[in-house]
Amino acid sequence: MKYISTRGQAPELNFEQAMLSGLAVDGGLYVPATWPQMSKPEIAALAGLSYEEIAFLVMKPFIGDTFSDDEFRAILKRAYGRFRHVARVPLTQIGANDFLLELHHGPTLAFKDVAMQLIGQMFEASLSCSGKRVTIVGATSGDTGSAAIEAFKGLDSVDVIILYPHGRVSDVQRRQMTTPSENNVHALAMDGDFDDCQARLKDMFNDFEFREAVQLAGVNSINWARVMAQVVYFFSSAVSLGAPHRKVSFTVPTGNFGDIFAAYVAKRMGLPIDRLVIATNQNDILHRTLQNGAHQKKGVTPSISPSMDIQVSSNFERLLFDLYDRQGSAVAQLMDELGAGGFSLSQGALEKLQAEFDSGNCSEAETTAEIAEMLENTGELLCPHSAVATKVAKDQRGDIATPMVALATAHAAKFPDAVETATGIRPDLPPHMADLFDRPERVTRVANDLDALKAAIIERSRI
Ligand SMILES: *Cc1c(COP(=O)(O)O)cnc(C)c1O
Repeated sequence: MKYISTRGQAPELNFEQAMLSGLAVDGGLYVPATWPQMSKPEIAALAGLSYEEIAFLVMKPFIGDTFSDDEFRAILKRAYGRFRHVARVPLTQIGANDFLLELHHGPTLAFKDVAMQLIGQMFEASLSCSGKRVTIVGATSGDTGSAAIEAFKGLDSVDVIILYPHGRVSDVQRRQMTTPSENNVHALAMDGDFDDCQARLKDMFNDFEFREAVQLAGVNSINWARVMAQVVYFFSSAVSLGAPHRKVSFTVPTGNFGDIFAAYVAKRMGLPIDRLVIATNQNDILHRTLQNGAHQKKGVTPSISPSMDIQVSSNFERLLFDLYDRQGSAVAQLMDELGAGGFSLSQGALEKLQAEFDSGNCSEAETTAEIAEMLENTGELLCPHSAVATKVAKDQRGDIATPMVALATAHAAKFPDAVETATGIRPDLPPHMADLFDRPERVTRVANDLDALKAAIIERSRI
C-alpha cells in the first residue's frame, strides 16, 4: 500500500515511512492511496475471532510487507496483552438496541491506548531492525500524552516528549504523564490551550533543520497508524451485532476527528454502517460545519470533557481530501484559509459531508444530567466524553431496528470531579494505579514559544 499526502506535494511513502514520519513535508497528512476493500464473506468470517485476529485481518492490507505475518501477530499480542479485559473492547447493552463500546480497558484508561500500545510495539519492531533512533514529540489534550508515555516508556530507540496545556488537563491525566520515572519520557506543561500546543508541534515539524537534527517523529492523532488501529473496533463490534448481515450505527465523541474518521474508513472498506454520528461538547465547530458548511474557529471554552476541547480538528483534513475528490491543491487552499480563521465548504463537499455523517452537540449541563441518568437507568458510571456520546446518540436515534453503538472513550475514574458532581459518587482508580496520587511528579513548565520549546526538546533528546 502506498501513502499519499492530503496536500498533494509530498513524496509517496510506504506504511513504515508514513508511520515514522507522521506529518508529510508539504504540511499534509498521509492517507492510503486507495481504500482496501473487505467483501461481505470476508467480513462475515470475522465473527467469533479474537480481537487480535480481527486486528490482523483488518490492518494487514494497510501495512503491506512492513512486517511478516508472524511478526505482526506477535506485535498485536504484545500490544493488547496489557488490556485488562479479555475481550479488549467489550460491548455493553444500555437499551433495547443500544450499546456502549468500552474502549477504556487499556493501561491509561482511555481509548488512546488501543492505538498507542500498537504503535509503541510497531515503532520498536521497526527501529530495532534498522538500528535507528527517533525523538517523538506529541501534543495532548490529556489522554494521548499519557497513552504515549505509557506505551513508549523504557524503550531504547525512542525518546518521548509530551506537551500539554498547563492547567487544562485533569489531575489523573497529568499524573499519568508526570509520574513515570523512566528517563526516556518527559512531560512539558505549556502555557496556552491544546490548539496552541498542536500549532507549536506543527511548527516543529515544518522546521526541517530541527526535524532532521532530533529525528522528529509524531504519534499524535495525525499519525496514520493511529487511525488505522482504531478502524479495527468498528469491525469487531459491528460483527458481534450482526454485520455484515445487518447495518449498525455509531455515535463517536469527537475532538481531533481521529476516531470518527476511523469509522468512516471502516465504512469505505465495506463495513455496512448505517449512520455515523459526530458528537461534540460545547466546542462544536464540527457540528456547526455540518449545519451549513461554515468551518469557523471560535476559540476553545474549557469543558468537563477536556479531551474534546478542540477547534482545529486535525484529522478533518483527511475527510476534506475525500470530499474534494482527492485534490491536494483544494485541501491546501482550505487549510490556508483555516489558518486565517476559517473556510466555507463548496456546495458539493457539504452535500457529501451531510450524506456521510449526522451530528449533535451536548452542553455542560446536559452532559452532567446524562451521567446521572445513565447511572440511574443502567448502573453504568460514564466519563463525561462517553456521556456526550450517549446523549447525542439518544437525540439522533433513528430506526430502532438498527443497533446504535456509542463509544465509551475513557474510564469514569479519569475524570472523577465531573462524575462526582453529577452522581455524588467518586469513582475509584483501578487497583493497578491506586497509588497514582502518592507517586512523585516530574514536569517542566514552558512558554508558548517555539525557540524555548526546541531548546527543551534538544536538551532531552538522546539523539
Ligand atoms: C481523544 C479523546 C476523544 C476524542 O477523540 P478524537 O479521535 O480526537 O476525536 C474523546 N474522548 C476521550 C476520552 C479522548 O481521550
